[in-house]
Amino acid sequence: MSVEQVIIIGSGPAGYTAAVYAARADMKPLLFEGQRLGGQPGGQLMLTTEVENYPGFPEGLMGPEMMEKFKAQAVRFGTRIISEDVTEVNFGSRPFKVKAGSTEYVASSVIICTGAQATWIGVPGEEQYQGHGVSACATCDGFFFRDKEILVVGGGDSAMEEANFLTKFAKKVTVVHRRDTLRASKIMQERAMKNPKIGFLWNTEVREVLGDGTRLTGVRVFNNQTNEERDLVTEGLFVAIGHKPNTELFKGVIDLDQKGYIVTKPGSTATSVEGVFAGGDVADHRYRQAVTAAGTGCMAALDAERWLESQE
Ligand code: NAP
Repeated sequence: MSVEQVIIIGSGPAGYTAAVYAARADMKPLLFEGQRLGGQPGGQLMLTTEVENYPGFPEGLMGPEMMEKFKAQAVRFGTRIISEDVTEVNFGSRPFKVKAGSTEYVASSVIICTGAQATWIGVPGEEQYQGHGVSACATCDGFFFRDKEILVVGGGDSAMEEANFLTKFAKKVTVVHRRDTLRASKIMQERAMKNPKIGFLWNTEVREVLGDGTRLTGVRVFNNQTNEERDLVTEGLFVAIGHKPNTELFKGVIDLDQKGYIVTKPGSTATSVEGVFAGGDVADHRYRQAVTAAGTGCMAALDAERWLESQE
């Protein structure tokens, strides 16, 4: 089996940008677009509505359309794409081994861009009713809540964005937040506060998702100031409380931080294993923007290229 110069794992803005740079540097990248890892090929932007803050697109564009463009650009320069989840990696010796399905691929360098995905609250009923009233993706599921009254959990930018988006469909959206101040940026807060369809329930925690066995029918909430517990009737629950990195594959293989994000050397995309690089949200819990993911994806390709040259 031939040894690839570089394998890129992940198909979000970081993975495709790494691919564009690696392909243009004649590294003939092989990119895995996971089916499960990170949710779906294309990463989190596949779950986004309009992207208004990606420079160069003054009118904004839809997340999935943006990812099609990223992919087309990577393919244009010769990136080969395999639509399979990577199930195992072995970085213990070189060349590195990457397994997908029943096939093992080998490469001189690897760029990890597996991204992050939504966090769930972790209360009874939440998992049972996922897809049956409980969702972490307004873009995917908002359509099903036309004229309904629904809840959004969280106080960050994601929660505000989801709440605003959901008012396109829902009759009323109530944001349930565990504190009495929002974490979201000022502009997102103001937009949500001004929206007549959005209400807020402060100091409130979701304790349980209630249902009739097939669908969610309500939510048990707890007010952490009054210690009062009560049941709310609702037709939908959108969870928007943050994300976790897709690093299951790399536990014990490369260094991860306390939250499971890949640790990279300051000012570089180098991981704890020489020849393995990381870009995008998988190594960034701070900025998490498409443009920063693309930026670090580019850095990873440049770092990999220079590292390969140094090995010759
Ligand atoms: P976040 O900023 O970490 O906010 C998470 C929110 O969920 C917080 O309000 C937090 O409450 C709450 N939360 C966390 N765990 C919870 C739990 N178990 N139960 C109930 N509530 C819980 O995450 P995010 O909103 O996903 O945003 C992540 C990053 O992406 C941020 O940097 C954000 O600015 C950025 N972002 C930007 C945009 C945009 O500009 N268009 C859109 C989306 C995201 P506490 O406040 O009490 O901690």
